[in-house]
Amino acid sequence: MRLSRSFLPTLKENPAEAQIVSHRLMLRAGLIRQTASGIYAWLPAGLKVLRNISQIVREEQDRIGAQEVLMPTLQSADLWKRSGRYDAYGPEMLRIQDRHKRELLYGPTNEEMITDLFGQAVKSYKDLPQMLYHIQWKFRDEVRPRFGVMRGREFLMKDAYSFDLDYDSAVATYRRMLLAYLRTFQRLGVRAVPMRADTGPIGGELSHEFLILAPTGESGVFYDAALEEQDWLDEPVNVGDPKALEVFYKRVTTPYAATDEMHDTAAWDAVPEDRRREGRGVEVGHIFHFGTKYTQSMDVTVSGPEGTPVYPEMGSYGIGVSRLAGAIIEASHDDAGIIWPDAVAPFRAVIINLKVGDETCDAMCEQIYNTNIEAFLYDDRTDRAGAKFADADLMGHPWQIVVGPRSAKEGRVELKRRATGERKEVSVEDALALVLAD
Ligand code: ATP
Ligand code: MG
Repeated sequence: MRLSRSFLPTLKENPAEAQIVSHRLMLRAGLIRQTASGIYAWLPAGLKVLRNISQIVREEQDRIGAQEVLMPTLQSADLWKRSGRYDAYGPEMLRIQDRHKRELLYGPTNEEMITDLFGQAVKSYKDLPQMLYHIQWKFRDEVRPRFGVMRGREFLMKDAYSFDLDYDSAVATYRRMLLAYLRTFQRLGVRAVPMRADTGPIGGELSHEFLILAPTGESGVFYDAALEEQDWLDEPVNVGDPKALEVFYKRVTTPYAATDEMHDTAAWDAVPEDRRREGRGVEVGHIFHFGTKYTQSMDVTVSGPEGTPVYPEMGSYGIGVSRLAGAIIEASHDDAGIIWPDAVAPFRAVIINLKVGDETCDAMCEQIYNTNIEAFLYDDRTDRAGAKFADADLMGHPWQIVVGPRSAKEGRVELKRRATGERKEVSVEDALALVLAD
């Protein structure tokens, strides 16, 4: 994208309405704009981030055999009356009436709809297990939408649902999903630790939340440093018993101070003292096993091995895709702006032309830009160099390729790594090899 022609409205000043750093930076870097309370439009660079996150989430769901579907945002109230949740859900649900006075709602989650779809299609235990997911907008009429996309009213979620014949097989599915989450967050370039969680209104027996470690997070967390060091990409997908399942601690909300109530003492005591860590975190994922709650309440069965009807065991598994965009920034920024992890950055590099109009500089920039116009943002504006550097740091591109008249004559550029601030002069070929390496 050529910056001179792009829709990338950056802001010099901190917007007064933004209380936390990720919200400020998302507005200042031109990623989002608010259109109504807790509702945001994603601008071109923000949309690229959302797509990059979604794609990694998708690949890791596919890897464990989950199949992608796309369910609608609008749901019939009748579905929710069948499970009994229509009245139970409360004012967070946005209820809508159509012209025929039929009751609809904007889905806050999809357990009812998927259970109904499953029941219509699957009749025999031989078709189990099944895992389905979609990446779709949700609406929850939060009392206090705040912190930008971190707690919006409309937000993008990946939600997966599993159906198994019995408890043991459901727990194996749950573990595979837990591992898929650890891989997903590692690929996104952030540290997320799993925490044993209360099952809350969905109800059930087994549940973990995943928290990205960031000093501004809403929750205090206690965890084993070994969790951070583990390379989840190396774990075989079919492990029956990821070590992770045994070693997490409860999260706590304010006040932020360590007391015995804040963690599972027995599990905590088992962690060697030099590996005990505490910090703060943002919830970016939540997984549940809740057994036959929905299959029973909605009366969905399959015929079992003995020919008698069986209620399948279910789990549901959420990732806050749009919240992740903010959470990643909370975990990865400095005073100058965002520091995007390579995998989610809207552009791999910005090409900074220090002398627009100079033949050598222009030609070299065009040459680099044309090798991969998707990967590069070309700063071809006639602004001062200082303003261009400031915008590049603000937007957080992993690399900056700086093209100035002197080095350009020798076929060289200055390459800056945003995360470390390290700069070096290299040939165009070497710069391209580094920036476009996977
Ligand atoms: P929270 O405790 O933050 O309110 P939740 O427990 O209600 O979240 P889940 O129902 O577990 O959320 O939804 C799955 C994921 O969706 C959460 O882990 C979170 O990342 C994301 N999410 C939930 N509510 C919001 C929201 N209002 N804005 C953005 N993302 C959200
Ligand atoms: Mg939750």
